[in-house]
Amino acid sequence: MPIDPEFKSKRQVVDQHEGHDVWGPVNPPEQLGIHGSIVAVDFDVCIGDGACIDACPVGVFEWVETPGHPASDKKADPKNESQCIFCLACETVCPVEAIKVFVE
Ligand code: SF4
Repeated sequence: MPIDPEFKSKRQVVDQHEGHDVWGPVNPPEQLGIHGSIVAVDFDVCIGDGACIDACPVGVFEWVETPGHPASDKKADPKNESQCIFCLACETVCPVEAIKVFVE
């Protein structure tokens, strides 16, 4: 199931990670929530494909290890989401539609 584009009206920020918001619910290692508020990656959808990391022209994403998660043991973390130039390449290439970019 893809990321819910309306998640901000349904979830709450429960944590911070590497300077970005984490939207719950979170129950590690099985449930990790959504990381980011500008470039949002649903960690529970992400399969660790890495296409977004290759596609992003400004290096927004970095791998984070997530051992024990049922979908994949690494995730593309939007560590540098403030650098996003809103090209939407990541949304387009993600094979499981785990990413939602909020264009300002
Ligand atoms: S929209 Fe473009 S610049 Fe922003 S995170 Fe995605 S690939 Fe990178």
